[in-house]
Amino acid sequence: MFGSVEDYPRDLTEFERRFAAEDACRAYLEQLRWPEGFRCPRCEARKAWPVRRRWWQCAACAHQTSVTAGTIFQDTRTPLPAWFRAMWWVTNQKTGVSALGLQRTLGLRSYKTAWTWLHKLRRAMVRPGRDCLRGWVEVDETYVGGVHPGRRGRQTETKALVAVAVEVERGRLGRIRLRRLLDASGPSLTAFVQDAVAPDSLVHTDGWSGYDPLERHGYRHQVTWLHGQAQPPSQLMPHVHQVVSLLKRWLLGTHHGAVTHAHLDYYLDEFTFRFNRRRSRSRGKLFYRLVQQAVAIDPAPYESLVKYARSP
Ligand SMILES: [Zn+2]
Repeated sequence: MFGSVEDYPRDLTEFERRFAAEDACRAYLEQLRWPEGFRCPRCEARKAWPVRRRWWQCAACAHQTSVTAGTIFQDTRTPLPAWFRAMWWVTNQKTGVSALGLQRTLGLRSYKTAWTWLHKLRRAMVRPGRDCLRGWVEVDETYVGGVHPGRRGRQTETKALVAVAVEVERGRLGRIRLRRLLDASGPSLTAFVQDAVAPDSLVHTDGWSGYDPLERHGYRHQVTWLHGQAQPPSQLMPHVHQVVSLLKRWLLGTHHGAVTHAHLDYYLDEFTFRFNRRRSRSRGKLFYRLVQQAVAIDPAPYESLVKYARSP
C-alpha cells in the first residue's frame, strides 16, 4: 500500500482510469503523505489500525486521524475525485487557470467554490522548506498591478512592490523566487535575499542602497549602476527583466490584471511553481508535486483566504 517512487499518471486516459473513485484517491494521498508508512501526527508512532471508514487510530496514543486531516482537503464535503480533477486541470494548463475556467471545466455550480479551490491549491504550490537559489543570482524589485508609476521604496494605493530573484546558469534563466514587500528598505530586501538565496552566492543588483547590507550578510555582491549608462536596464540586468515581463504578462493575460494586493502572494506562488517547472516535459509530474505538497501543508479555511493575506 505504501511506496516512495514517483508514481503519477502519464496522460488523461491513465488519470481518469486511476482516480475515478474516492478510495483510489485516498490511497494515493496516503502514499504521498506517508511514504514510509503511517505516522501519527500527535506522537509520531508508526503503528495504526483502520477505524470507521478511511480513518486510522494510532496504536500508541489512540489518536484518530485521516490522510486529509491537517491538509487543504480537511473538512471538504467535495468528493476527492473532484479535487483530483481540479489538480489535474490546474497542472495541465501551461499558463494557469482562472476561477471561471475551473468552474466551467469541472461543471461547478458556484464561482465561489472554484475561486476557493484555486486559492487552496495555490497555497500548496510552495514547497515547505524548499531549497534556496544559489550560484549567480540577479535580484531586483518591480511594481505590479495598477497603472501609475510609484516612487521607489513605497507601496502606493494601486501598485504592489514585488522582489524578484533569478538564478542564472550559463546565461540562461534558472529557478526564481518572488515575494511582495512593503518597502524597498535594506531590512526588507535583506530578509528576502536571506530567505531566497543561499549564503556565499553571487548576488547581482543595481546600485540601490537597500542592497548595501548584503555583503555583511555573507553574500558576494556585484553592483551594476543603471544611472548614466547608455544601455537600458533591460540589457544591464536582462534575466530579472525577462522574468518581470513574463510575470506581468501572465497577471494581465490569465487573470486580466484583477489581482488584489491581499491575494497577490498566492498568484506569485503559482507563477513561481509553473516557472520553476517550465522545462518539465511531464505534466503528470507537476500533478504529482502538487498533490504531494497539498498533503504536506496546513488547512486553509475559506475565511482565512478572504480575510488575511500573508504578511510579507
Ligand atoms: Zn499517536
